[in-house]
This record gives sequence, structure tokens and C-alpha cells, in this order.
Amino acid sequence: MVYQAESNRYESMKYNRCGRSGLLLPAISLGLWHNFGGVDTFENGRAMLRRAFDLGITHFDLANNYGPPAGSAEEMFGVMMQNDFAPYRDEMIISTKAGYYMWEGPYGEWGSKKYLVASLNQSLKRMKLDYVDIFYHHRPDPNTPMEETIGALDLIVRQGKALYAGISNYSAEQAAEAIKIADRLGTPIVIHQPSYSMFNRWIEDGLQDVLADNGVGSIVFSPLAQGLLSNKYLNGIPEDSRAARPSVFLQESQITPELVEKLRKLNDIASNRGQSLAQLALAWVLRGGRVTSALIGASRVSQIEDSVAALNNLEFSTEELNAIEEILKS
Ligand code: NDP
Repeated sequence: MVYQAESNRYESMKYNRCGRSGLLLPAISLGLWHNFGGVDTFENGRAMLRRAFDLGITHFDLANNYGPPAGSAEEMFGVMMQNDFAPYRDEMIISTKAGYYMWEGPYGEWGSKKYLVASLNQSLKRMKLDYVDIFYHHRPDPNTPMEETIGALDLIVRQGKALYAGISNYSAEQAAEAIKIADRLGTPIVIHQPSYSMFNRWIEDGLQDVLADNGVGSIVFSPLAQGLLSNKYLNGIPEDSRAARPSVFLQESQITPELVEKLRKLNDIASNRGQSLAQLALAWVLRGGRVTSALIGASRVSQIEDSVAALNNLEFSTEELNAIEEILKS
């Protein structure tokens, strides 16, 4: 069936300004790291993208290596772009990245100009796009001068292959340096993509201040700690969960009795707020307005619906915040 987007799709989503740029991002964005690869069910991925867009999620995040196999998430996305979303291209913010291993030889990973330019050209072909909205350097490269890496982002934006430049997984010090170089070149770093969740708070220790001081936005990945921060692991490990699947990124051994105890206590706070644990975890990363967008993943449509409904209650009382701190410290 021909896809026709919901006419009320902009009525309930919240859009936040990305730092001091002109770019507005939905408070919840959808990433295609898992569940959109060649090994996954195409129709499920397609249903998730459609539902997300219908709920006002305008931003979809990819990378050259998403799959598996690497590249296949961009290919799947390209088919969906062509079949479903072509009429909506100007309503979408599509990002991709390069930095991790993508092809053999000396030019297939890290941060050289050669790799970044070649990789983005490949990504555009796979996604059947003329340009992406955001292009990220995916991880810092200890061996390439930062001037070269950030210079490649500047070139790519000037060529019109990306509209905005971003960095991901850069420390506070690395981000400060990248931002300075980019400003000098005249193509600002508009966004940083770090990990952040109740269980992973490294960005509070310096990075958030660097971004705020420089007017750079942030989109935080794995805000649900890959699904740990949901009610799915409270009573064992469901067969259809990421921990049970062959992913090396989340393993059954991480789900300890101590962790489950914490999840139960957090789940009680969520229930008292009328939220699911996933909704609590998303509202928490967005608290205080320091984060532009929470970048979720999903394995089914119902999770996207649940996660977007987190936006119905983003306010926290001091008592709630203190109670959460106590649980996280325990
Ligand atoms: P999350 O922490 O949101 O984890 C997503 C997983 O949580 C889903 O696959 C699902 O797991 C579960 N889930 C999602 N919503 C719900 C819900 N409402 N209720 C219950 N369970 C839920 O994020 P990801 O780790 O998937 O990362 C999100 C995106 O961030 C990626 O797609 C990618 O775009 C980006 N990313 C960027 C990185 C970088 O280096 N820049 C690194 C990693 C991710 P299940 O499969 O068990 O159902």
C-alpha cells in the first residue's frame, strides 16, 4: 500500500533547537543501528519507520556500518526512502557517520579525509540520497590530525553533501578542540552524539558544559541502556530481547540480580508517575533541557509508541530526582 503520512503528525511531538543553530530536532529520534539490517525483517523496519514519522519523529540516524551486514541498514533505508518517504524528504533529518571499520585496506576506517569523503559517497549511494542532513565523524582518531578530520567535514558541507557537521564519542577536551577548528574553518560543529543514560553519565563530567558554552546541541544514544532501562528484564530474559539475541553489545551476563533490583526500584518510581520504566528513562535524559534529543532504538512499533509517550510527562519533582539518585548510587 502506498504510504500516506498521518495528517496530524506534528501535533504532539516536541521540537528542540539544536544548540545555537537553526536546526530543530524532535525530542525523540530513531536510530537504525539494530533491527534494520539485511538479517532483519524488512517489513518490520518499514512499519517502524512509518509509525515513527506518523508520530512526528522527523530525525533518523544511520551510520555506514549499521546492519549487519555493514551497509545494509543504509540500503534498507534507501529502499524505504524511495518507496515511502520520497515525497517527505524535506520534512526529514537524515544523518550518517563514518569512523568505524567499513572496508579493508588503510582507507576504510578512522578519520582521514580520504576515508570520510569516500565513505559518505558510498552512504549516499546506498540511501539513494543527494545529501544527508547531518554527517558525523563517528569516533575520534588518535593518529589523524584533527585539522584534517574536521577539514573533511568542512569540505563535505561546502560540497553540499551534508548540511550540518557533527562529532560523536569525542571527550570534552576533544570536542572543545574540534569545535574551535570547525569555527575557524567556518563550518561549525552543530551537534555532538555521545552515549548517555541513567546508567552512563560520563557527559555530565565536562562535556555538557563544553557543548553549552559553545552553543552546540546534543543527541544522546542508548538512553535506555540498550533496553536495560525498560521493564523487559524484570522477570528474566525474554527470547525476543537484544540480550538474548547474538548481539555482542548487550549480553545476558550484564543482567545481574543487583541490576534487576535497581530496575525494580526505578520501575516503582515510574509507576508512581504513571510511566513505563522506558518512559521514565527517556524523560530523565531530557530533564532540564540540556539534551536536544534522545536517540532511541526499537525492535517493534509498540516500543516507539511507548517511548514517544514519555513526552507527556517530562517534569520531575526534586523528591523524584533525589530518589532516582539514591537508587543509582546504591
Ligand atoms: P536504546 O537504549 O534506546 O535501546 C533500544 C532497545 O531498547 C530496543 O532495540 C529495544 O530492545 C529496547 N526498547 C526500546 N524502546 C523500548 C520501550 N519503549 N520499552 C521496552 N524496550 C524498549 O538505544 P540503542 O542502543 O538501540 O541506540 C539507539 C541509536 O543510537 C542507534 O540506533 C544508533 O542510531 C545510535 N547509536 C550511536 C552510537 C555511536 O557511536 N554514535 C552507538 C550506539 C548507538 P529489544 O531489542 O530488546 O526489544
